[in-house]
Amino acid sequence: MQKIIGALVVTAAILTAGVSCGGARNGSATGAGTASTGTAGSVDGATTGSVNGSAPDAAAASVPEFNADSAYVYLKRQVDFGPRVPNSEAHRKTGDMLVAELKRSGAQVHEQRFDATAFDGTVLHSRNIFARFNPEKETARLLLLAHYDTRPWADQDPDESKHKQPIDGANDGASGVAILLETARQLAIKNPGYGIDILFVDAEDYGTDNREDSWAMGAKYFADNMDANGWRPSRAILLDMVGGGNAQFPYEYYSQQAAPELNTQFRQAAGAAGYASYFPQSMGGAVTDDHVKLIEQGVPAIDIIDYDPRQGFNPTWHTVSDNIGNIDKTTLKAVGQSLLQFIYK
Ligand SMILES: [Zn+2]
Repeated sequence: MQKIIGALVVTAAILTAGVSCGGARNGSATGAGTASTGTAGSVDGATTGSVNGSAPDAAAASVPEFNADSAYVYLKRQVDFGPRVPNSEAHRKTGDMLVAELKRSGAQVHEQRFDATAFDGTVLHSRNIFARFNPEKETARLLLLAHYDTRPWADQDPDESKHKQPIDGANDGASGVAILLETARQLAIKNPGYGIDILFVDAEDYGTDNREDSWAMGAKYFADNMDANGWRPSRAILLDMVGGGNAQFPYEYYSQQAAPELNTQFRQAAGAAGYASYFPQSMGGAVTDDHVKLIEQGVPAIDIIDYDPRQGFNPTWHTVSDNIGNIDKTTLKAVGQSLLQFIYK
């Protein structure tokens, strides 16, 4: 667990919530963000990101339309495999699907296999999946990442009898992956002209309370080996829990410490895309998540995560309610369009 920062006010509600998709959750109570969802996130139906260089408004046309329906289908495909717990058939099949989809988008795809020993001694046969767009561009690469494994236990469910059940992980895991798969599809349609990597990390969510190193084992493996592989990015954006209802994405503490400029740039892009209301100008909590492993190796990285210091994570977090019925396509649209705006601006 990262040390508690003095400036942050630790709230009892958050502490009781225990561990996370990351660990330390202590939030400032100073957030000015509202809890309401933005209004701009209408789902676009028909328009996919077709190449269209002829539109009169060149500035507007330069950013492709993020197709939330396509992202939703990518999300559903993951959930339909079942819980993606490491060592399970559903986990393996999901990994294979991700590799196939990324290859279909024309990326250079690497499968990074490793065994990670969990806090309970279980050996997790793990696989990070890493896709490079414009691999010949050696500098100033942007890394986009999300975890694709899901938590084996619904240990935050209000019904204690469900604590040993696995979760569907529609939001916690599948949402971030879905947005990045749709982003990969857009990258294939319209080349941004610089180096972008998409990383699906494994073994994020098998952690336990009070063991900081039990989370984000896939991200750690990637970060520990990225220099040897020549894969160091210049900056990184992590998406985690980006498909829930009433989502809000205030600044995450470690992100703001390590990469304030990147945070500002991303929020400017969200504003330009019309989704500022999802990204309040307030401090959220300090969330131990995959981005911290990159920060520890010197990569400026931010975490776009639905975490409000007063309400904690989305209420479905680590419960059996983290299912596709609680996914809000307008949230996928807001985050996905903001990301495309950032990429193509
Ligand atoms: Zn989680």
